[in-house]
Amino acid sequence: MIVIKYLYIGIDDTDSPDGMCTTYLASQIINKFKDNGIELVDYPRLIRLNPFARFKTRGNGGVSLKILNDDKANLARKIVLNEVEKLSMFDCDNTNPGVIFYNGEITDEMKDYAFKAIHEFITIDEAEDFGKSVGCEIHKFKKGRGIIGSIAAISLPLEDFTFELLAYRSSENYGTKRKIDYDSVYLMDKKTFPDTFENIDYSEDYIAIEPKTPCPVLYGIRSNNVEALHVAKDIVKVDEPIVDWCIFKTNQHTDMHIQKADCILDMVQFGCYEVVGEVKNKPKIISGGHMFFFISDKSGEIECGAYEPTKNFRNVVSNLIPGDVVKVFGGIGEQNTFNIEKFQVLKLNDVEYHNPICECGKRMTSAGKNKGFKCKKCGNKIDSNEKVPIKITRNLKNSQFYETPVSARRHLSKPLCRMNL
Ligand code: ATP
Repeated sequence: MIVIKYLYIGIDDTDSPDGMCTTYLASQIINKFKDNGIELVDYPRLIRLNPFARFKTRGNGGVSLKILNDDKANLARKIVLNEVEKLSMFDCDNTNPGVIFYNGEITDEMKDYAFKAIHEFITIDEAEDFGKSVGCEIHKFKKGRGIIGSIAAISLPLEDFTFELLAYRSSENYGTKRKIDYDSVYLMDKKTFPDTFENIDYSEDYIAIEPKTPCPVLYGIRSNNVEALHVAKDIVKVDEPIVDWCIFKTNQHTDMHIQKADCILDMVQFGCYEVVGEVKNKPKIISGGHMFFFISDKSGEIECGAYEPTKNFRNVVSNLIPGDVVKVFGGIGEQNTFNIEKFQVLKLNDVEYHNPICECGKRMTSAGKNKGFKCKKCGNKIDSNEKVPIKITRNLKNSQFYETPVSARRHLSKPLCRMNL
């Protein structure tokens, strides 16, 4: 039996807010690989990690490549290290690249490490000890923080996955307004959604495929399959050169960051969860436009937030009333509030209790604590303290999911269009 062994390559933390993108660096490496007859096995991977990681530039993504571990593997190693040396944004304090080479099987403990990098925090020392223990070849540049994400990027199993096609700009255009024909993006979305998704936020008239940073990416189109990406790329028109493009296999929009919490008390800060709770109070909006309400269960309560950037989602949230039972999906952030990404209504409270109506037609008022009700108009009195249930119509629907708009979506959040509802 022939055992084909692979060389896994992980790269992370090469960019800064002023420029670069680890995916662009990867695409340059892939080009150099091609020039030297080195083929990738499977697509390059873009793996999003813990959204709360402190030193992330933007979306906390690491990249991994897989090639055959043959006589060209050493050349591949040299190409990777050269490109990382050449293109990383070393001047930025927070850019600390890390490169990993690994030529064994991806073991269960490596998979566990990868999930830990999505759900928890890992230190550079911890990553280095772990990498050494499983036999990774570790290359740290400056502090080498990137090894945390690099090991995770090669190790994460992808049962559910999506693809992203990234088109790159010519370097003289970096930092200038991108020349994308927005009408063609609308057309692309019309023709390829829901195979492609997250293209446009219609409520905000926001073109989501266009980054807002000075990075090399001209646009990124996300999809469930590669075929739709080719169709989409042909439809989107731009008025500037595309110097290169590359399709990555990713864990974006898979909800991999979400852990099931049995109860509210089980959740910890900087974790992302789905949890069930009963709405305690009517959502309130505070200055700055953020909206908050509490949910509770037998174990405790937590404040949930729909923040200003979630725009119209706040109108949906404002329909919740005490007694509604919801399953919320999201993460517990800096302020210890649960930042909602989406929610499902499990049980709507569709009954309100009102004072009884008097025979004369007027609604009665309380006659005092435990003294029943009285009518202010005709003086009629009743001894019972029981209020009358009245069915109310609600703007929300039982079982239905409600989500934040595209413009406020996290890279890892699964949109409803991917949920087979
Ligand atoms: P971009 O998405 O534009 O490439 P980024 O947001 O991915 O940028 P990085 O430059 O990759 O940001 O920085 C993120 C840093 O956080 C990396 O050094 C990565 O190794 C590290 N990191 C990733 N996951 C964790 C984690 N769970 N705990 C601690 N550090 C982490």
